[in-house]
Amino acid sequence: MTFPPLRDELRGIEPYGAPQLPIDVVPVQLNVNENPYGPSAACIADIAASAAEAAATLNRYPDREFVALREALASYLTRDAVSRLAGARTSTTESSIAPEQVWAANGSNEVMLQLLQAFGGPGRTAVSFAPTYSMYPEYARDTNTRWVAGHRAEDFSLDLDAARDLVKTEQPSVILLPSPNNPTGTALPPEAVGVLCEAAGDEGIVVVDEAYGEFRRSGVPSALELLPSYRNLVVTRTMSKAFAGAGLRLGYLAAAPEICDAIRVVRLPYHLSAVTQAVALAALRHAPELLGKVDELRAERDALVDWLRAEAYDVADSDANFVLFGRFADRHAVWQGLLDRGVLIRETGPDGWLRVSVGTPDEMAAFRAALTDVDGERA
Ligand SMILES: *Cc1c(COP(=O)(O)O)cnc(C)c1O
Repeated sequence: MTFPPLRDELRGIEPYGAPQLPIDVVPVQLNVNENPYGPSAACIADIAASAAEAAATLNRYPDREFVALREALASYLTRDAVSRLAGARTSTTESSIAPEQVWAANGSNEVMLQLLQAFGGPGRTAVSFAPTYSMYPEYARDTNTRWVAGHRAEDFSLDLDAARDLVKTEQPSVILLPSPNNPTGTALPPEAVGVLCEAAGDEGIVVVDEAYGEFRRSGVPSALELLPSYRNLVVTRTMSKAFAGAGLRLGYLAAAPEICDAIRVVRLPYHLSAVTQAVALAALRHAPELLGKVDELRAERDALVDWLRAEAYDVADSDANFVLFGRFADRHAVWQGLLDRGVLIRETGPDGWLRVSVGTPDEMAAFRAALTDVDGERA
């Protein structure tokens, strides 16, 4: 036995994570889909005051059920669903989300790990469709859940018949569907979610990971609208992306209350610190400001897609705050060439493709200039 006595299946595995380089070394960081716009001075002051209030109580454990935060998240989700639906429907009452339907943890990654802890495990199967988020197989591995990856079509959409067949054959207890998908940016049509919820039945939960949900193009619905129709549907969200709170570590989900209750069995006691709860509540009070740049980022994204296509790159349609483009005979050389010019993007996704996050207009100008410079490498 070699030391340390690690589980056999973890031996030799590198920890997940994009390279983190100091901002003074690489000034343009477009690699982890962060919102480039930080909080205003007023918002910072409110967050600091809330953290100070929480600090006064740090000798006590925090509210284990984070009731106030669940209420605030529920009302945010209800407002999001209603504002997106305004004009599209006459009645929006069915879009209201109750606090018992909300669960939160330290990032939606932790929420999804908890889902696998509760609903996966030995003798059970989790399914997704590649190319997709590279953390999913890790949650499966860490919870001893069998991992099965189906495949997406050439344009990264889901072949619904094949997906339904895979679910029928594998009978997964968890199906992970990012929408918009990372790293391709592709959103799922609501029909796909419905078909897979029906195929999974009561034996499986369908997790629609809407980490980038707020960036979807107008007319693209959220799976939140389908919650009243499918009790095995779980929609996860995060404050890390559109909400400009990657450093906060707060992710959450909306689902049937029975699903939230089931997660309470596997969560660690007091997993959300008093500071996290206070800061998340303060950030939610500033939701309009923190989300205020989303429309600008969406416009910047659409302009980036147009520019890349005009430059004759292949570009996946994107409903997120990043764009997958290619194709390169040697994508690593292009990635390195951009880095040498002070622009950090992400070498991820199918072979030959690269992913770039949408930043400020200045950052995008720097990206375009650097790519034009490096362009010689194109296949
Ligand atoms: C960024 C991202 C998340 C969010 O992770 P957090 O833990 O909430 O920061 C979830 N899913 C996907 C597909 C992502 O890209």
